[in-house]
Amino acid sequence: MSEPGFRFCDELGPKAILHVHEPAPGLQAIVVVDNVAAGPAIGGVRMAPDVTLEECFRLARAMTFKNAAAGLAHGGGKSVIVADPTMERSKKETLIRAFACAIGPIADYIPGPDMGTDEVAMAWVKDEIGRAVGLPREIGGIPLDEIGATGFGVVASAEVAADHIGLDMAGARVAVQGFGAVGKHAARFFADKGAVLVAASDSRGTVHDPAGLDVDALITLKESGGHVADLPEGEKLVGEAIVGVDCDVWIPAARPDVIRADNAGEVKAKLVVQGANIGVTEEAEALLAERGIVCLPDFISNAGGVICAAVEYHGGTQAQAFETIDEKIRANTAEVLDRAKSAGILPRAAAIAMAGERVRTAMAFRRWG
Ligand code: NAD
Repeated sequence: MSEPGFRFCDELGPKAILHVHEPAPGLQAIVVVDNVAAGPAIGGVRMAPDVTLEECFRLARAMTFKNAAAGLAHGGGKSVIVADPTMERSKKETLIRAFACAIGPIADYIPGPDMGTDEVAMAWVKDEIGRAVGLPREIGGIPLDEIGATGFGVVASAEVAADHIGLDMAGARVAVQGFGAVGKHAARFFADKGAVLVAASDSRGTVHDPAGLDVDALITLKESGGHVADLPEGEKLVGEAIVGVDCDVWIPAARPDVIRADNAGEVKAKLVVQGANIGVTEEAEALLAERGIVCLPDFISNAGGVICAAVEYHGGTQAQAFETIDEKIRANTAEVLDRAKSAGILPRAAAIAMAGERVRTAMAFRRWG
């Protein structure tokens, strides 16, 4: 058996794994630089008490595929800090700055925000080592959650897939699970296309109205600290009932594994477009396909955020970010659906093949690494 420290290694990576232990600030962190053939790795910094090397590696590999699929000049990486993100702000700043100093020499890893970190944390990292993405607007950042970069890409992806299956977006009935940074903006961009939001949920409940919900009223409600089920109009549903709502397009934009083998049969939509990461299990993706439901892979449809981060890194503007997201996500969605159709395989298998080919081609241009 090979030395266990190399257990994740395959033909694509990881190029390097760094364990950081800095006793004075109490920092324990792991950085996985998976593959940098296309360019320096972009990947978020996740802070949580229970993060592991395995999780960090899987997320880094997912970023290799997401960045390659998006056609960015960036490889994939990820880092995790073992700590409670709700700690006192001054302690968090010390920890993040210590983390930044530790990763400073890893020039081919560009950190971004992820669960437990935000644009302020990225500003601290930038201040220490001169590089980070997902920065505050005041220092050249494009606030991707505020502008709805990922939701915008989700809708672009949905529009291409709708064309593919002969579904008209004008009048299409949409259900969004998770009315947060991704979901609420997706609802807004769907409404701009003439689609009708028939159900929306958050962690407290679901509101449903087959005649259509007022998207602006829901966004105002959420932004004032309320919940979607506080909307006076519409029927209120509980639990996972939104999965079975009668609609044309279903958007997971909350937690992982919300459509699984045990509830995939309830889905009535013709199209499932993943805003969330791994919102649909692989088993469920196969079951949906058997019923003729097209399910777009997460790393194709939800790449708007990382595309926006890459545009920011290269000094681009917000308008250029939207233009790049639109162009790349539309092209990739079309290619994935064409490949899936001609090879008779699932969109996810087609997307992995497409991303893998791009990584291997980029690797062939290099002497190594
Ligand atoms: P967020 O915290 O802003 O929003 C999440 C929303 O989901 C909240 O409204 C929350 O109440 C709701 N929610 C939580 N549990 C729920 C449940 N069980 N049922 C229904 N709703 C529930 O997070 P976000 O940034 O919008 O991210 C959502 C998902 O999209 C995550 O899986 C994230 O990894 C993924 N994602 C986000 C981005 C991005 O740019 N923010 C990019 C790619 C992928």
